[in-house]
Amino acid sequence: MRQKLVAGNWKMNGTASALTELGNLAYSCKSAKSEVLICPPSTLIYRASNVCVDSKVEIGAQDCHSATYGAHTGDLSAEMLHDAGATAVILGHSERRADHAETDKLVRAKATTAIAAGLTAIICVGETLVEREAGRTMDVVRAQLEGSLPDDSSGSKVVVAYEPVWAIGTGKVPTVEQIAEVHSGLRASLVKRFGGETAKAIRLLYGGSVKSSNAKEIFAVAEVDGALVGGASLKAADFAPIVSALDASA
Ligand code: PEP
Repeated sequence: MRQKLVAGNWKMNGTASALTELGNLAYSCKSAKSEVLICPPSTLIYRASNVCVDSKVEIGAQDCHSATYGAHTGDLSAEMLHDAGATAVILGHSERRADHAETDKLVRAKATTAIAAGLTAIICVGETLVEREAGRTMDVVRAQLEGSLPDDSSGSKVVVAYEPVWAIGTGKVPTVEQIAEVHSGLRASLVKRFGGETAKAIRLLYGGSVKSSNAKEIFAVAEVDGALVGGASLKAADFAPIVSALDASA
């Protein structure tokens, strides 16, 4: 049985005042059965992990460098993030692939470094609208999966998030059939590459405009083990019902 997971990505939002919201979330999630992760901006990781100590909410990062240390001004290593209190890191988010020209090869290198530092790598894949309309969705996500996951991936080291680029922050959500098609295709690719036992332990999250109003139907889709949530993770009142919907689906 894969442990369900709901992860919140705060992106470039939040200063110290947001920690009150995090405290509210930790309180709301005190009986959560699912794993709950919040990835604030790096400036808040240390304080956020202190706020969430002894709570069900874990703290993650939104990116790391592929090197372990060195002359990379402005960057943060996986070890630094782990040291600050992070237990996981989002890698290959479409905004980083677009804004920073991140390739699958780079994402894989980052994942390898993150795992070595003791972080769970949440690796994002997803097609653009142009790719979907050209009927290339499965080719695109399979290629990203193949290129971005390290060879020693396992359920304890890696989580995969399917995030159609056109659904992120737009309010547009794929149909449950479309989500099911991609998730079962991703599972089949994982089985082919890593073998059944390893592949079946790797969690597959859906991400893209998940809200409390659509969470229940998304969580009912086969092979959906939880969600990666952007906008609706910023307020405890929006995020906690998504956690409850995932708990109810377990
Ligand atoms: C995301 O950025 O990972 C995301 C899923 O955003 P949103 O939930 O706002 O679409």
